Amino acid sequence: MDAVYEKYELFCNACSGGRDVPTPFCAMVCPQLAEGYGYRDLINHSLETNDYVQLMIPIIFTVIIIRIVKVFVVMPLMTKSGPFLNRKRQFVKLVQKEHLTENVVRFRYKLPGSQTLGLYVGGFIKVHHPNSFKRQKEGEWNGRADPEAELDEIDRKYTPVTSEDDKGYFDIVVKSYRPSENPKFPDGGKSGYKMECQSIGDLLQISGPFGHIKYLGGGVFKKTGKEYKTANIAMIAGGSGITPMLQIIRDVIKNSSDHANISLLYANQTEDDIILRKELEALAPRLKCYMTLDRPPKGWEGGAGFITKGAFFFVFCLVCSILISRCVKVFWRILLALRRMSVLQRS
Ligand SMILES: Cc1cc2nc3c(=O)[nH]c(=O)nc-3n(C[C@H](O)[C@H](O)[C@H](O)COP(=O)(O)OP(=O)(O)OC[C@H]3O[C@@H](n4cnc5c(N)ncnc54)[C@H](O)[C@@H]3O)c2cc1C
Repeated sequence: MDAVYEKYELFCNACSGGRDVPTPFCAMVCPQLAEGYGYRDLINHSLETNDYVQLMIPIIFTVIIIRIVKVFVVMPLMTKSGPFLNRKRQFVKLVQKEHLTENVVRFRYKLPGSQTLGLYVGGFIKVHHPNSFKRQKEGEWNGRADPEAELDEIDRKYTPVTSEDDKGYFDIVVKSYRPSENPKFPDGGKSGYKMECQSIGDLLQISGPFGHIKYLGGGVFKKTGKEYKTANIAMIAGGSGITPMLQIIRDVIKNSSDHANISLLYANQTEDDIILRKELEALAPRLKCYMTLDRPPKGWEGGAGFITKGAFFFVFCLVCSILISRCVKVFWRILLALRRMSVLQRS
């Protein structure tokens, strides 16, 4: 045994940095030691209590580390609640992808645990992409000098169509401009197409919340620190620009104590381009929505053509009519109150 010890000592001084006595654990981590001197000798040697203790220490240590990681890292992540966005860049995983029209996609991204996105009504997030897009001509995008050509990364703004009531995920609806789909735009769009090409499980880098306008409810908007109150909210949107409007519309309708009147003029190129149509139509009559198309089909009952002064005039008239009806109601109430007062005075 002594001879074996001597040999062990030589080895152990060499590989474990100066241990006096080799242990069975030394043999487990050092194949040379186990092989060269016979495992049986080592087992015999390990029968000493001291060696059991030395063997157990690393095992106990590993178990403690696993437990600490589980309690302080894994469990808080699984049960995490509260807002996800913290203005820093973070990755989210794509868990669902659904084409709403030929080129409009609804993406669902997972949030840790039961976290909400943490976006105020009226705010938006930024999506970040490395600037490595395939292009027809170096330095150009869609036949024009690309102002983003020298950047390492690009970002685009998106307004989720889910709200703070949705926990553990958020959805964005994005229009994708595919390359060569339209000869005028041979490169298409950068961000939307890149997102359309993503597969389930892919990561997306986002940051937020951003935006100067906050809807506080009850017809109150906050812009650069100042509050503005209105009874009538009139909105004009085109194409995928509907998403910020939908966010505010849904918030007004969700809150039964919010009596703001909401009207929307929504313009698209064709009937197929109208995104979130069902969702918008479901909000009538609380939402007064008027849709207009550049190229309307036969029998289309909405407006036709671009948003022009005439269309603006329509929204203006809509808002005025709401205002007038409210004024008439108030005037009528005052008249009734005055009449009651005069009857009381006479009696
Ligand atoms: C507050 C805010 C919220 C927004 N929310 C949303 C949202 O929820 N969903 C959404 O989709 N967008 C939203 N946008 C717009 C979004 O930020 C991007 O501008 C949009 O996705 C286009 O970016 P892109 O990189 O795909 O295209 P880019 O490369 O930036 O742009 C190319 C531009 O060229 C034109 N173009 C390219 N190819 C074609 C083609 N084949 N046919 C016609 N025109 C073409 C389009 O005008 C397109 O915008 C929002 C913008 C703002 C400011």
